Amino acid sequence: MSKEDSILDLFYKLAEVQAPSGFEEPMMKAFIDEIKPYVDEVHGTPRGNIIATQKGTNPKAPKVALVAHLDQIGFIVFNIDPTGFVRFRKLGGSVTRAIQGQHLQILTEKGPVVGVVGMKPGHITTPAEANTIPPIEDMYIDIGAASRDEAGMMGVRNGTPITYSTTPVKLANDLIAAPSIDDRAGCAAVIHVAKTFAKKRPKATVYYIGSVEEEIGLRGAETCLHDLDVDMAVAVDTFPAGYQPDVNMRDLFYEVGKGAGLHVGEQGDRVRIQSQQVHRWLRRTAEAHGIPHQVGIMSGGTDAMEMMQTRGGIPSATIGIPRRYSHSPVEVFSPKDLENLTKILTFAIQDLGPGFSNARM
Ligand SMILES: [Zn+2]
Repeated sequence: MSKEDSILDLFYKLAEVQAPSGFEEPMMKAFIDEIKPYVDEVHGTPRGNIIATQKGTNPKAPKVALVAHLDQIGFIVFNIDPTGFVRFRKLGGSVTRAIQGQHLQILTEKGPVVGVVGMKPGHITTPAEANTIPPIEDMYIDIGAASRDEAGMMGVRNGTPITYSTTPVKLANDLIAAPSIDDRAGCAAVIHVAKTFAKKRPKATVYYIGSVEEEIGLRGAETCLHDLDVDMAVAVDTFPAGYQPDVNMRDLFYEVGKGAGLHVGEQGDRVRIQSQQVHRWLRRTAEAHGIPHQVGIMSGGTDAMEMMQTRGGIPSATIGIPRRYSHSPVEVFSPKDLENLTKILTFAIQDLGPGFSNARM
């Protein structure tokens, strides 16, 4: 099996784990199980972040954290109608127009309960209704139960988490469509870097971190570096790409298959700038080794933004995998971008020595 195949195998394995924001336990466990053979120590924090430490050979080299988030977008049971239909709300920013007609799984304590998101029959839908997307408050999940009591007996209760149960499919040009590319692809990359350095340690000590609750406000990242002696951090995540019929290049110019994204900043309600020292370190590595990459301002936010505000401020930046249809059940990415991202991180850490400075001036 080639090295590349094994990153992809790991991605597929992690994509099967169901861990919506706030309910990450299955991914916390999977991250620990996968990374444990390659590191010196791994522990979970009370907040839920998982921190794996791989000691470097030179204590004077900068210490770096690679952070991928363990959670995925999902939903949560809000209420159950007396007739057994399940009302729900979003956990994270799912695309509303993608929800109706989908298969979901309600992750009860007794195991997953399958459901479908129902809708009005086409025959009696008015033209006005046909062209509008109902708010999530109007949507409902049909689990087949005839009453609230029956739903309860199946383990479905208010507050039970939900995920899409769409399975990954392969498209032409090796593209993959799956619901939780964000951020199982990043988790696979982080674990793969740990594996690469397991026997041949770099000078730098590396912390491999799985963070929680990224999708509901970067909440795990607010605390994940707090107790670590770390000089800089890299969020390893996915980000929205364009080059699809309904997206103007003016708004999204990153492209799937054109390399990892190295972001100067992030565009949310305003542009926020990442650490240019960390950004340049990654960009120069990609340039020096001729690894495909794309540079720009990404849309959305990542854990880097919270880590920048930890303690006195930990210089942080993001490296990402571009994907189409962000936050839908059919996100699309290219394994080539994942491999190139992993190469950039591996070379960057390999080359990191005591001479590196993260000072702004
Ligand atoms: Zn993400």
